Amino acid sequence: MRAYTYIERGKFELLDKPKPELEDPRDAIVRVTLGSICTSDLHIKHGSVPRAVPGVTVGHEMVGIVERVGPAVTSTKPGDRVTVNVETFCGECFFCKRGYVNNCADPVGGWALGCRIDGGQAEYMRVPHADQGLNRIPDTVGDEQALFVGDILATGFWAARISEIAEEDTVLIIGAGPTGICTLLCVMLRHPKRIIVCEKSPERIRFVQEHYPEVLVCGPEECRHFVSRHSDHGGADRVLEVAGADDTFRLAWECARPHAVVTVVALYDRPQTLPLPDMYGKNLTFKTGGVDGCDCAEILRLIEQGRIDTVPLITHRFPLSRIDEAYRLFENRQDGVIKVAIECGK
Ligand SMILES: [Zn+2]
Ligand SMILES: [Zn+2]
Repeated sequence: MRAYTYIERGKFELLDKPKPELEDPRDAIVRVTLGSICTSDLHIKHGSVPRAVPGVTVGHEMVGIVERVGPAVTSTKPGDRVTVNVETFCGECFFCKRGYVNNCADPVGGWALGCRIDGGQAEYMRVPHADQGLNRIPDTVGDEQALFVGDILATGFWAARISEIAEEDTVLIIGAGPTGICTLLCVMLRHPKRIIVCEKSPERIRFVQEHYPEVLVCGPEECRHFVSRHSDHGGADRVLEVAGADDTFRLAWECARPHAVVTVVALYDRPQTLPLPDMYGKNLTFKTGGVDGCDCAEILRLIEQGRIDTVPLITHRFPLSRIDEAYRLFENRQDGVIKVAIECGK
């Protein structure tokens, strides 16, 4: 089968590999129907994920059809259409029992797929702990509708959940990339009084204005002033930092009102400073990433009910045979790309 593979820093290649086999009674083999490319894949390509193993099949956003399951798997069976969770977790350890599945103590717990073990930019993949890692897609929900459930949508849902958003709140979301928009959709489900999105790219600003006209939009330069004018207590009640740019962490806490919650969803390339003397007296609560992706069943229900729709994020579609081209487009942000869908059977 064909599998897009991390060869070395700067180089991914579509290789021919043997089809994966069941290795543990809790494994499932999934025939991948649709995959996507995530910014984290680019981090691997650029060598900024030290845990990534050369030779590994990349890709951790995908949906597919269960081909085979080990004898211990009970939640899915061959033929089921499923989402695959970016995180592998056992469901039984100290962290899993508390919903902190990102920190699962299993040797392959956390983000392993497409990083430490083979992922899903391939025709087939092995999913460990399949009872936790797979969720059945409702019949009325299409593959494209479900494509982001296991990764960026799980991230947005988690970020909105931990940010303690109330109906009287002004919520600031910094960054309107794919994860920023997923975060926006999940914040909207909580109906805060106002949502402000801060974004630099004119293309992304247009996307937000076109699809979510009820949301206020501003650029990073005017953000502090804009937020203080459009909030009731001199700053945002909740700030969700999804941009991960050089100055957006600072922007996040500066735009927050005293006693606000600041949730850091972003993954930074460089260390950030927490200048405590400057924020003394603001009494902020910081919450930091990464995602505990254990709400996929609920997210699928919301999609089924028509309350979350991420299909507009898919701007381009490619067969697996042309995945190099898809990466070039995504990496260089050409042609207004937000997300690409990769048809892994083609
Ligand atoms: Zn990702
Ligand atoms: Zn666990």
